[in-house]
Amino acid sequence: MVSVMSRTAEAPVLDASPEPGPAGQGRREVCLGAVWALLLVVTSLWLADGGVHDLLDGAAVTALGRLAGLLASASLLMQVLVMARVPWIEQAWGSGDLRRIHRLVGFGSMALMGTHIALITAGYADASINRIWAVVVDFVVNEPGGLLAVAGTIALLMVVVTSVRVARRRLRYESWHLLHLYAYVGAGLALPHQLWDGQEFTRSTAASVFWWSLYGMCAGAVVAFRVVLPLWRSLRAPIRVLGVHHETPTVLTVTVGGPGVRYLHARGGQFFHWRFLGAPGWTRAHPYSLSAPPDGSMLRFTAAMVGNGSAALRHLQPGSRVLIEGPYGRLHSGTRTRPKVLLVGAGTGVAPLRALFESLPQRPGDVQILHRVRSRREAIFSDELETLAARYGADYRLVEGRRIQDRASWLPQAASGWADHSALQHFCPDVAEREVYICGPDRWAAAVRAAALRARVPARHIHAEYFHD
Ligand SMILES: Cc1cc2nc3c(=O)[nH]c(=O)nc-3n(C[C@H](O)[C@H](O)[C@H](O)COP(=O)(O)OP(=O)(O)OC[C@H]3O[C@@H](n4cnc5c(N)ncnc54)[C@H](O)[C@@H]3O)c2cc1C
Repeated sequence: MVSVMSRTAEAPVLDASPEPGPAGQGRREVCLGAVWALLLVVTSLWLADGGVHDLLDGAAVTALGRLAGLLASASLLMQVLVMARVPWIEQAWGSGDLRRIHRLVGFGSMALMGTHIALITAGYADASINRIWAVVVDFVVNEPGGLLAVAGTIALLMVVVTSVRVARRRLRYESWHLLHLYAYVGAGLALPHQLWDGQEFTRSTAASVFWWSLYGMCAGAVVAFRVVLPLWRSLRAPIRVLGVHHETPTVLTVTVGGPGVRYLHARGGQFFHWRFLGAPGWTRAHPYSLSAPPDGSMLRFTAAMVGNGSAALRHLQPGSRVLIEGPYGRLHSGTRTRPKVLLVGAGTGVAPLRALFESLPQRPGDVQILHRVRSRREAIFSDELETLAARYGADYRLVEGRRIQDRASWLPQAASGWADHSALQHFCPDVAEREVYICGPDRWAAAVRAAALRARVPARHIHAEYFHD
């Protein structure tokens, strides 16, 4: 039922030293520095335009409203940049963390926009409730870009409301994703209001140059990294389906290959967004992680059939053209900074860890793998992992059983008497000295991450990929 790619049968040549440390930490510091610099410049522009003077001179409410509007615009652009899949930023944080940052900044920017609207309206209405409606009508009818700004705010509000967890769970992924694209429409519609009406934008050349550059950079990043680069990678040399085979009745492995693969520079454990031309639902890309290290001519991923998109994979025909975006993700050997490694995976989350395991330089005893499954019957790759672990001198353990029901935990019900971090330390006593890679369903992976942190693994040595959001 399971398969090992033929190249794994050869004796691996393993270098015992870890690869040079990742630039991730340094990059994150640069990104955070850039965020602070951005907020500083925005606040300085507000100050230069008489912000403090207005504060002290009886126009405090509108002055603070203008500042909130500027910070809302800056955070909206940050949010777009975070999801533009700029490789440099993506490799600094990892896609899972970027999704979380995007979500957090999104709610923050909407709160700032609400504050902007409330304070500006209150300021112009001289705090008189009776004048509020007149101010709103005047803004929509007479202010250049006013009506567009209202439409943009409604679009952004809709995106925020549908992203609140309770609402998000009620929507199909496709519907939520389609609605989410309205955020770009919202940001675009709000722009003319800032361009024509925003005094910090129009009054000084420096301010105009600054805001134009910011908008240009974000739009450029989205077009370059979400459209042009993936198209160029997919079209410059073809990649086609080579075969599909079942690992279990509900899990299958897809192998693709062709001259395009060698240009991708992918590493074992990373993921791509995949589209299969001619197959049903090809317009919607799905993320799947590599389940074996790329060898320069072939890639493979292993997918659980959970819905329409993944179920359609079983009908793929050899020869179908593949469009891909990636590689993405920090589950690869280049992020490792410590000689000892712990890999913790659940369900199909073990697939990228299997690929990572095989591409890690290692000495016997360096790598430990915890494979969480409901039952051994569902444990994909357990035979391959056992074989590879025996060959490399790694420690491989299946942690079997149904989930604990009454608390968020990574453990099975039979271990409910254990605290999550104590169980992790029990399985892996030197976990605090290891680089930890985690992959699996969202809440399960978050529970492992929390346990690793409590077991004193520093956050910078934990790398997690979350399968469902
Ligand atoms: C970074 C990453 C790597 C992944 N790697 C693997 C893997 O190697 N093997 C594997 O079996 N699964 C993997 N997944 C999960 C896989 O992408 C989803 O199971 C699949 O997209 C479900 O699509 P569907 O139409 O079959 O199911 P649906 O019923 O449409 O969706 C089921 C759930 O999957 C999620 N989902 C659906 N479509 C997408 C999408 N386009 N992007 C992100 N999430 C989506 C949603 O949370 C949804 O609720 C990965 C997910 C992520 C985010």
